Amino acid sequence: MKPRVLILGAGFGGLELSTSLSEVLGESLEITVIDKSDAFVFGFSKLDILFGRQTAAAVRLPYAGVAKPGVKLRRETVTAIDPAARRVTTDAGTHEADVLVIALGADYDVSRTPGITLGENEFYSVPGAIHLSGVLPGFKKGHAVVGVCGAPYKCPPAPSECALMLHDYLVQRGVRGDCRIALVNPMSSPVPPSPDTSRALMAAFAERGIEYLPGRKVAAVEPGRALLDDGSALPCDLFLGVPKNRAPEVVVASGLTEDGWVPVGRTLETKFPGVYAIGDVANSGTPKAGLFAENAAKTVAANLIARFRHEEPAAKNPGTGSCYIEFGGDRIARVDIDFFSGPKPTSAFHEPSTALRADKRAFGSIRRARWFGR
Ligand SMILES: Cc1cc2nc3c(=O)[nH]c(=O)nc-3n(C[C@H](O)[C@H](O)[C@H](O)COP(=O)(O)OP(=O)(O)OC[C@H]3O[C@@H](n4cnc5c(N)ncnc54)[C@H](O)[C@@H]3O)c2cc1C
Repeated sequence: MKPRVLILGAGFGGLELSTSLSEVLGESLEITVIDKSDAFVFGFSKLDILFGRQTAAAVRLPYAGVAKPGVKLRRETVTAIDPAARRVTTDAGTHEADVLVIALGADYDVSRTPGITLGENEFYSVPGAIHLSGVLPGFKKGHAVVGVCGAPYKCPPAPSECALMLHDYLVQRGVRGDCRIALVNPMSSPVPPSPDTSRALMAAFAERGIEYLPGRKVAAVEPGRALLDDGSALPCDLFLGVPKNRAPEVVVASGLTEDGWVPVGRTLETKFPGVYAIGDVANSGTPKAGLFAENAAKTVAANLIARFRHEEPAAKNPGTGSCYIEFGGDRIARVDIDFFSGPKPTSAFHEPSTALRADKRAFGSIRRARWFGR
């Protein structure tokens, strides 16, 4: 019998893992990837949808037609996970595995933030970004709040990018002078592991008159105001929200989580042998962002390939990754962060430039070609 590798989630982590395994071991494995969705969308595409740079249809990468040796992609919803038995139940049946990888990402929990509604006043889901892209043209004066409702959340720089892109959007429409922009973020600085990046972002906020409120989160949104967790309130005519993130309920119910996320070490194996967690669903000591999910996937792939070849698995999650940051004015910065090489994270900040836009475009198209063959 071929070893059965079951990957839950076809996002950044699941796509990279199935591709890496297929590339090397192909038909000698039975790789099943399960996702409830019919298409993948890069996280950064949601900002493009929000500000009308791309349509939702243009950024969807449908799973249909993806063909890789040894890989079956199934559109099913995972309803239960038994990590001890490595058995997974979906709306279509049951799957058993020799190796189980949880790559189900992070979900949104709006129940604890009154006034925030999925698909309406948040830009972290595709329906939310689409809805707000229709609201933005009507915002011509008043107070806009870009507000984060809890940490950790996906892509730490995204709210800063949103505030800077909103500034440009309003300038282009000639209404910036009639609008205020405030950015509320529970973190102590925009990108805490990279002081250089944080300094550059705070300088950009100051230059553009964006009011930056660190160390606070949005506790509730009411008509005309956003309430913060320190008891203060901001006037708010337009709310662009980042909902509180959480591990998917099915993962919590499986007993895999502690303090809300799945704890893993440098091999990404959970406390259950043969069960791994990668990407946003895991607490691995790195941020919830695409490249960190991808590097975790590569680590698991390397160790599984070694194991199936009867070699000693030796790969460790490098804890490295880069984030592209939209600074407005068509310029993009990049920060490269290394979490595990030294006693403290180290980072290299690449100043915003138009050249880095081409870099970001290549980042997307390389993955589209690698994962989707298009
Ligand atoms: C606005 C925004 C901007 C971002 N910008 C960037 C950026 O510029 N760079 C960057 O690196 N990262 C960015 N990110 C973060 C990035 O998108 C995530 O960190 C990354 O996608 C995590 O990969 P993952 O594999 O862990 O989860 P995901 O990519 O979220 O994949 C999880 C998959 O699991 C599936 N799933 C969930 N529950 C179930 C279930 N019960 N049954 C079946 N399937 C299920 C989902 O459909 C999904 O396809 C951004 C995110 C957002 C929201």
